[in-house]
Amino acid sequence: PQGLIRRTWEADDVQTTLPKRERSAHKGSHGRGLIIGGSSLMPGSITMTAKAALRSGVGLLTVGTVSSVVPSIAAQCSETTFMRLADEDGWITNDQEIDIDSYDAIAIGIGMGRGTDTSDYTKKLLRQAELPVIVDADGLYHLKGDLGMLQKRTSPTILTPHPGEMAMLLECSIATILENPFDVAREFAEKYQVYLVLKGANTIVTDPSGNQWVNTTGNPGLAKGGSGDVLSGIILAMVLQPQSISVALANSCYFLGKSADLLVEERHSTYDLIATDVIEGISSVFRTFD
Ligand code: AMP
Ligand code: MG
Repeated sequence: PQGLIRRTWEADDVQTTLPKRERSAHKGSHGRGLIIGGSSLMPGSITMTAKAALRSGVGLLTVGTVSSVVPSIAAQCSETTFMRLADEDGWITNDQEIDIDSYDAIAIGIGMGRGTDTSDYTKKLLRQAELPVIVDADGLYHLKGDLGMLQKRTSPTILTPHPGEMAMLLECSIATILENPFDVAREFAEKYQVYLVLKGANTIVTDPSGNQWVNTTGNPGLAKGGSGDVLSGIILAMVLQPQSISVALANSCYFLGKSADLLVEERHSTYDLIATDVIEGISSVFRTFD
């Protein structure tokens, strides 16, 4: 349609949009992020999200998770504080208050599992949270059949599905999505009024008006468990900085891919690269911009 953007997002775009850190900045200037997720048998993914958020410039980070996951994160992210969530057998339960007043954005769904109680908690949070919320992984699963609730939200909602999760949400085949990812993404984002990050070798960011930006960084070294968890952490940190959500999302995808590209050029291969390396590589990407 006329007037809508559809183009690639390049290094020059990152250079001109990446917010400068003010000389007088304090931790409150760079956002208070909350990550909700984790379950006793999946402590690793949310740990990677937390580490990635810390490496991407978040001012303050809290992780809301079940007790058994806390030691895993605490061991690897000394900079994180915790909100302990009630659980049953290691899964987040719904019979608890949601206390989100002191945060500026939330990422929910990573490693949290697919039980009914966890699902109810996720939806309760989405109804209550009047701040940007990023929904990934199992959080997307909880939205299945309930996408209409997103239209009632008054603050930005960001969904980050890979094609399999997109197909699950739309109740269609993965092939249908891959045949025409641009139109599928645009129609979805406009209908549900969300920011959609449709992940893949060339991730497509779509805003609620239907504008689209395509990422060109990244390599098959990212085609491994954990990459998406890292992206969610980068997104949480970048959404909290003073820039538009679309720019934050396009820059986040650029950073994930570029970190992997630099690592594969310098030190790793697409075989041995793992998500944890990609987190450490974020520093090199920041250093290419001034
Ligand atoms: P997930 O499937 O949730 O773990 O997300 C995978 C992440 O890695 C997404 O951000 C993808 O864009 C990225 N990714 C996976 N495979 C590739 C690839 N072959 N080239 C570039 N990026 C990739
Ligand atoms: Mg994922």
